[in-house]
Amino acid sequence: MPMKTQAGLRPYDVVLIGGGIMSATLAILLKHLEPTWTIAVFERLPEVGAEASAAWHNAGTGHAGLCELNYTSENPDGTIDIDKAVAVNEQFQLTRQLWAALVEAGILGKPETFINPMPHMTLVHGREEVDFLRRRHEVMSGHHLFENMRFSDDLDTIGQWAPLLTRDRAAGEPIAATRDITGSDVDFGELTEQMFHHLRWQDVEIHRSCEVRGLRRNNDGTWQLRVDWRTDGDRLTRKVDARFVFAGAGGWALKVLQKAGIPEVRGYGLLPVSGRFLRCDNPAVVERHEAKVYGKAPAGTPPMSMPHLDTRVVDGRRALLFGPYAGVNPKFLKKGSILDAPASVRRHNIAPLTAMLKDNLPLIRLLVSQVTATRKKKMAVLREFAPSANAEDWTMITAGQRAQIVKADPEHGGVLQFGTEVVASHDGSIAAVLGASPGASTAPSIVLDVLHQCFPRYRRIWEPRLRELMPTLGVSLAHDARLARQTMARTAEVLGLQARSIG
Ligand SMILES: Cc1cc2nc3c(=O)[nH]c(=O)nc-3n(C[C@H](O)[C@H](O)[C@H](O)COP(=O)(O)OP(=O)(O)OC[C@H]3O[C@@H](n4cnc5c(N)ncnc54)[C@H](O)[C@@H]3O)c2cc1C
Repeated sequence: MPMKTQAGLRPYDVVLIGGGIMSATLAILLKHLEPTWTIAVFERLPEVGAEASAAWHNAGTGHAGLCELNYTSENPDGTIDIDKAVAVNEQFQLTRQLWAALVEAGILGKPETFINPMPHMTLVHGREEVDFLRRRHEVMSGHHLFENMRFSDDLDTIGQWAPLLTRDRAAGEPIAATRDITGSDVDFGELTEQMFHHLRWQDVEIHRSCEVRGLRRNNDGTWQLRVDWRTDGDRLTRKVDARFVFAGAGGWALKVLQKAGIPEVRGYGLLPVSGRFLRCDNPAVVERHEAKVYGKAPAGTPPMSMPHLDTRVVDGRRALLFGPYAGVNPKFLKKGSILDAPASVRRHNIAPLTAMLKDNLPLIRLLVSQVTATRKKKMAVLREFAPSANAEDWTMITAGQRAQIVKADPEHGGVLQFGTEVVASHDGSIAAVLGASPGASTAPSIVLDVLHQCFPRYRRIWEPRLRELMPTLGVSLAHDARLARQTMARTAEVLGLQARSIG
């Protein structure tokens, strides 16, 4: 491929590396806050929203703590801790407010193009788990954020909620489920595209097939990026200057921070985890299921192994998805390189990575075993949810790549972390999002964190403007039941979601 080098493009106020939901959300907020700032987005693929944010590369769950068992835990005294579920729910309420504001402003299209009402369920098997779910439900449904959650250990009721769960199920097997009809299915890829479509009309430059290959700091504290432009077989390298750089680059965000050489990235590494889903498009099966049903991750395995059977609504069509079947793969992005993991090893992250591997051998074994698991074994896992599942109705698809955070830890040397984390330079001139969960659902809260860390001087000026989009920002909905109910009812109405259960 011929390669030419061109002199720098004009300096931008903001450069966003990566065209996924994180960059799209940050650009939307920045354009609202500072309409005159110049913003450019560089995406290495020919399309935006084509990596983890793409519709079929993730599960499309609007994570709100309504169904995921890993957001609650049992204390040694038998009480149940729901703090994490409450925190995730509060974050998702901010997300709903932002999307509702964007729909009302005509920035996003009809809500059903990207979000659809979908009951969120939890399913457990066995006497002990049934007892746990009952106690969990008592605590959760006592909180106003989860007051729509229903519990049942009656096969007929569960069958009415989701027929596939009980069809052909052996009698006498104790099972129980909770169901919350206020849940949602989200097409994050469509959402990302709609946001970028609007941004284009707001003079945000969106450059596709452009990969940021290098970064260095200029003498005045701004950044110079080396960008590879690919056009019709031609490759051009350009230099681009920016006052602020954000890497919404998925797993490659670590590479960007390492290239920038900021000290804050020391001690960080990533554990890349691939994922596969079973997908069913047979209308006769699809019409028998309308829910996202989350089960329990096998003992000793992390939350990302939590199996779930989901209705998806993509391009107006319904389909079912089951998985994930996690595996090992050294790439940090689905379209990344097999050298991603080895090339990210530095002197400062060798010890955390080694300690993490040593402490997580069962997980590594599980990931390896899932790669080699036969289709028969995979169908057996699905049949724990849908006993009548027929292998011919299901095809295997490859999901996006998760890059889980590994970081230095004074006690263990290194730990594996399952959330997301914003890593920013001390002067706030560059920031990145590392990690995967709860991910896209909480993108607004994550990018608000970026704004707080990187633009502390603007906080007082920006807050009222941010409240135009997210009116409850700064208020705890967990502690204000009236405001929480009002807010949920309003966003449900605008986004076409279910507001509350009756009875
Ligand atoms: C299997 C799976 C299931 C998931 N399920 C859910 C779910 O149900 N609900 C939920 O809320 N979240 C879920 N997530 C998480 C969610 O998908 C991610 O958190 C979210 O999509 C991340 O968005 P992003 O913008 O950071 O990254 P991405 O969407 O991956 O975008 C990063 C972009 O950066 C580009 N890029 C990278 N490096 C460069 C470079 N140097 N130059 C230019 N461009 C670059 C990439 O090409 C890519 O387009 C899931 C993820 C996976 C993998």
